[in-house]
Formats: sequence, structure tokens, C-alpha cells
Amino acid sequence: MRTLRNFINGQWVDSSGGDVLTCVNPHDEKPVATLPAGTAADVDAAVDAARRAQPEWASLSLRQRLDRLARLADEIERNLDYLVGLEADEMGKPHKIGTQFIHAGLSTYRKALHEAETYPFASRVEVVDGLATDVQRFPVGVVGVIVPWNFTVTTILMALGAALAAGNTVVVKPSEKASLSAVGFFEMVEQSGIPAGVLNLVLGDFHAGTPLAGHPGIDLVQFTGSVRTGRSVGVAAAANLNRALLELGGKDPVVIDADIDVEAVAEEVALGSYLNSGQICTAMERIYVHQDIAAEFIDALVAATHRRIVGDPTRADTEIGPMVDAGQRQHVDRHVRAAVAAGARVLVGGEIPDGPGFYYPPTVVVDVTEDMELMTEETFGPVAAVQVVPSFEAGVEEAKRTEFGLGAVVYTSDEEHQRLARTIPTGILWLNGWQLGDLGRLVEPAGVSGMGAIGGVHAIDSVTRPMAVHYVVAPHEVAEGAERVAAPELAHA
Ligand code: NAD
Repeated sequence: MRTLRNFINGQWVDSSGGDVLTCVNPHDEKPVATLPAGTAADVDAAVDAARRAQPEWASLSLRQRLDRLARLADEIERNLDYLVGLEADEMGKPHKIGTQFIHAGLSTYRKALHEAETYPFASRVEVVDGLATDVQRFPVGVVGVIVPWNFTVTTILMALGAALAAGNTVVVKPSEKASLSAVGFFEMVEQSGIPAGVLNLVLGDFHAGTPLAGHPGIDLVQFTGSVRTGRSVGVAAAANLNRALLELGGKDPVVIDADIDVEAVAEEVALGSYLNSGQICTAMERIYVHQDIAAEFIDALVAATHRRIVGDPTRADTEIGPMVDAGQRQHVDRHVRAAVAAGARVLVGGEIPDGPGFYYPPTVVVDVTEDMELMTEETFGPVAAVQVVPSFEAGVEEAKRTEFGLGAVVYTSDEEHQRLARTIPTGILWLNGWQLGDLGRLVEPAGVSGMGAIGGVHAIDSVTRPMAVHYVVAPHEVAEGAERVAAPELAHA
């Protein structure tokens, strides 16, 4: 069993506190690591290291920063199997899915570095009547990155590219349920030669998360996690008049029209409902199917559910592993049982199996109604909850009946219906597919699913502070108009 430590100012260090948490492998319920519960003093030390390292990091040329950051990506890629193994040990993620998602995180990280190469850190935006306006962008300073347990390495990678390329330094706080892979990630940070203090790691639960979110020494908190915690993180940031990027939970709807390929869509719904045991923020949580094909679709979904390979996450062919812990499984079981008590029917699964491991079977529930928690609260488990609707339009109306706004999926061949689908208020709309496009594109959640844009150039906007400079220009410059005025020379915040 491993003993995990914090990584602060380029050193592995013990926590200032004595409270210890245990990380359990959800496949066999055996402990795999202990970690500190985290303290405000640990956070102080990490933020202090990040603050001290920031001016020098920002004073490097953009090229120098990007070269160092590219080395980290190469190091992660070289050790990908090791990190995939740690994610399986800590939260039961099947190797196949771990590999796929760390690759996606790396791609997003590398795209952010690429965007930074041409990003207008300094540009002339206007020349009018002999008066010019430049906008220069500075790193905000220190970024606190707080991540959940379901995709630790990917979520860290998604946050780091833009923040570090722009000249910020970072303190990462992973979930107490999945700190093994975060420690593995920081072993690569150590190998990559990124200067001490630029990237720091504080382990622990809310005892570390709360002081980081509200720390006066950070300038931005980038939080990925539940709506409930996101609200308190947003309030803590606001108290310091800091920015917060909040990527929170969802209850994504799927609307299925009568004119689709039933077998193909049922197969994709099985993927979207069960991937990572349903523990993905954009899982398909509410499925609205047109009555004309409902019977055929449900039969196909049940068949697709039976075909899933459930079991040991380290086996190459496993598609569905255990849930992260007993608490999360209990939450899913409660949603299903309450739905059944209110009139829903389970067609496959729905029972906690005997034996070790926090397994919950892929489950199809039908005859659900809009008043069930299963259709209103995030379930975050391998459950396909299907409601039959009289028309495509009725399905879209149901899709809109939520306070969440993370993602939505619509299957239809009808162009008019595709236009109607675009009225669903959501950060991401997938038309005739799921997880289309890459993670590095612009996304800003709607509703209570969060706020703040990430992805592409928008990620760099979010981690930089603009300064407008107005000045009188010489007559010969007036003709030049708006243009990039300087290479990205960054001052520290
Ligand atoms: P969580 O909100 O319980 O915890 C997230 C992180 O916040 C953890 O590191 C936790 O230790 C820390 N934390 C807990 N209390 C805190 C506090 N008061 N202040 C600051 N930090 C605190 O979420 P979780 O259970 O780890 O993750 C699952 C949730 O994450 C789901 O709701 C899922 O939808 C969401 N999620 C969203 C996205 C997205 O991109 N929108 C991606 C992945 C997961």
C-alpha cells in the first residue's frame, strides 16, 4: 500500500496535519493508498510556492514555456499505461476507457499550447481619429485547480495547458477518492523539468478544497465537480472578487425521433449511459424516445445492455467496471428503487450483485415519469432511464425541463427537427452522435451546470487579464489600422 504525499515547490512533502484518508480499490475493496486529509497550512504552503514562482515563469519567453510544457505531455504519453493502471486501482476505470480519455486530455493540452503560439497576447484593436487602442493580456497569477475523481488525469490536463502557457502557476487539488493518478501525474511533472513551484499538488478532501477555493493568494479557481460543491466554490471565489470557472454536473437528455436507425442508436445509448459506469458528466441520463419506434428501440437497448462486458477493469476487454465507492452505488440504487416504487419497471439489472467490489449492473428502466429523482437529479451511474413520448416536439419539451445545461443529444434525420433541437439550452448539443468533436473546443455550461468558457482560445481568455491601452499615434501610423502590435511578451500579474 502506498503512502501519498503533497508536491510543493518541487519537493514531495508531508502534510502539516496528522489526519489520514484511505483510498480503496473498488474492484476488490482492498486499500491501495493512504493520503493526508489536507489542511489550510498545506494550501498556504502550496499557494506561497506558486506565487513566488509565478513572476519568473511569466518572464520566460512564450517559446521557453511551451517547450517545457510540451516535455510534460511527452512524459505523460510515455507513462500512459502506468497512469491508466493507477486510475483503474483508485476508481475502477476500465483500461480501455482510461487510455482513450488520457489521450483526449493530452490532445486538449497540446491544442492549448498550439493556440498559445498564435494567441493575441498583445494586439492593436482600433485606430480612430489618431487615437489607437491596444489590448494587452497578462496571466491572472495563481490558479487553483480542483478536480473530481472520475477522470483525474484528463481533467488536470484540460485545465493546465492554457493556464501554464499563459504564464500562470498552479495549485492542483485532486479528489480524495482518486489521488493515486494525481500523484502519478506529478511524478511526470517532476521528470519534465518544469521549474519548482510552477505546479503544486495538495492532497485531501474538503479540508484542503475549501481553503484553496477561498485563498486570498490565488486569482482564479478552476473547479470541476458537483453543483453543490461548485456553488460553495463560486461563493468563496466571489468573496475575494476572484474569477471562477465552474464545470459542474448534468442531467443530459437524449431525444430520439421516429426516423432513425434503431439498432445503431440503441447501441450508442448503451455506450452513453454506461461508459465509466455512467460516471461521466455528459452521460445520457434521460432518454426520450418517439412512441412509433419505442418498442423496437427498447428491445434493442435491452439486447445491447446484455452484450456489455462487466468486470475486472484491468482486463483488456472490460467495458464496465465497478462504481467508485459504496456511497455512489447506494445513491444510484436509491434512484432506481424510488423510481420502481413510483411505478417504473426495471427490464435489465437493477440489483446490487453479491461479492466484493462496488459493482452495479448496467440497468434499463422504463415507464419513468418527470417527477422521479431518476429523471431530475444527477444519477451518475450505469442506468438508462427511458420515457416514451408522443412526438419529437414533446421529447424536446421534456429535454428542456431541467435546471441543468451541460449537454444534450438528439437523433433525427429531419432538418426541421434538427433546427428545433438547437433551442435546447445547453453548453453542448450533439446531433446524431455522442462525444462528437474533441474536448478542446469552446464549451460553457448553461444553467446550474456551471459558468465560464474553456477550450480553444477561450481558455486563454479565461486565464488572462486584459489591459486596454489608449494613446495618440503619429499620423503615418494611422493608416496601419488594427493589427497585432507585439510578440507575446508577458509581464507577471
Ligand atoms: P465533488 O463536488 O464532490 O468534489 C469535487 C472536488 O471538490 C473534489 O476534489 C473534492 O475534494 C473537492 N471539494 C469538496 N468539497 C469542497 C469545498 N467545500 N470546497 C472546495 N473543494 C471541495 O464532485 P465529485 O463527486 O468528486 O465529482 C462528481 C461530480 O463532478 C459530478 O457532479 C459530475 O457531473 C461532475 N463533473 C463535471 C465535469 C464537467 O466538465 N462539467 C466533469 C467531470 C465531473
